[in-house]
Amino acid sequence: MIGLSVAREIKRRERGARVIVIEKERAAGMHASGRNSGVLHAGFYYSPDSLKARFTRTGNAMMTEYCVARGLPVNRCGKLVVARSDEELPRLDELYRRGRANGVTLEMIDAKQANEIEPRAIVHERAIWSPSTSTVDPRAVMDALVGDAIAEGIEIRFSTPFMPSMQSRHLINSAGLGAVALARSFGFAQHYRMIPFRGLYLYSNEPRGALRTNLYPVPDPRFPFLGVHFTITVYGAIKIGPTARPSILHGALLLATHPELRALALEEIRKTSRRYIVKRASVLARGVRVEDYTRWGTPGVRAQLYDKRTRALEMDFVIERDEKSLHILNAVSPGFTCAMSFAEHVADLALNT
Ligand SMILES: Cc1cc2nc3c(=O)[nH]c(=O)nc-3n(C[C@H](O)[C@H](O)[C@H](O)COP(=O)(O)OP(=O)(O)OC[C@H]3O[C@@H](n4cnc5c(N)ncnc54)[C@H](O)[C@@H]3O)c2cc1C
Repeated sequence: MIGLSVAREIKRRERGARVIVIEKERAAGMHASGRNSGVLHAGFYYSPDSLKARFTRTGNAMMTEYCVARGLPVNRCGKLVVARSDEELPRLDELYRRGRANGVTLEMIDAKQANEIEPRAIVHERAIWSPSTSTVDPRAVMDALVGDAIAEGIEIRFSTPFMPSMQSRHLINSAGLGAVALARSFGFAQHYRMIPFRGLYLYSNEPRGALRTNLYPVPDPRFPFLGVHFTITVYGAIKIGPTARPSILHGALLLATHPELRALALEEIRKTSRRYIVKRASVLARGVRVEDYTRWGTPGVRAQLYDKRTRALEMDFVIERDEKSLHILNAVSPGFTCAMSFAEHVADLALNT
């Protein structure tokens, strides 16, 4: 997603340039970009000074416009973030302030209004309504982008892993999970490590429309991800998740340096139980029954950057570069939503060096 978006943006600005996308797989979207939740986020979680805050709102608008223009489906089902206790209300208010500071359209609504939007939502006093959150079909988007890129004169070479012997005037590395390894061959990313987190969703057998909107908890500040939530896919199916599990090796590494992550690790182990994850989701909506949730989806892997100096997970995009190459090291969620807007930023940097 990021590679194709950047390639198209560069070709748009420099019509005569020869732009080549190399992809080690036989098709586009075989990793995060074709295996994500397909949510176009609105942009209210991120601190206003972050790159994510800058690109999510505009990326959402650009991607929506793209899907409409290409006749690709968009489910404009919105999103509710619901408070479940008095304790969560100040955090919900903070989320709302943050969203407004980021220029995102949001409404703070009461429980009655929230239940008009989603009758099954369990709401303690207040909820945030985000009308601009929607869902798309990530694979359909990837296929359309490949077609457009080729039509615009971009060469795409599949089954072509990067080799250090390859020559180019400028190289842009958007290799997702492979980004750190590739950057190292240019002398970058020395103090980073890539930690893959495996994400799974559990699908409901309930009919379309059984839940009308994406339904999220107020995020737990102890954990880096958004918490178990309901997503409505572009085709109206309901799923809960995600899990976020590192490999045993990476998990051990994180726990050795961060004993405070023990709670997160335990939670992730528990979430692989169908019964447990359904129970976690059932605090958000009425009538959630474990027997309706029987099918795990295809896993997607988050390429999460870890800074060995600060011993922290990087939560924003990270770019390292010089005049010959630019390396996108942390295209974390919501990288899919951000991609078209983020590509403008990358093109600004790459073309003005
Ligand atoms: C489970 C999950 C759910 C998510 N949900 C959402 C969501 O709802 N909304 C949202 O906005 N974002 C979401 N994200 C995040 C989003 O999917 C990513 O931020 C985005 O897809 C990153 O795009 P990318 O192009 O950097 O990575 P990728 O799609 O991983 O692309 C990198 C590409 O580089 C190729 N590559 C790697 N190494 C080499 C090499 N050496 N040579 C040649 N090619 C190479 C790979 O084959 C791959 O195709 C989610 C992610 C996951 C995992």
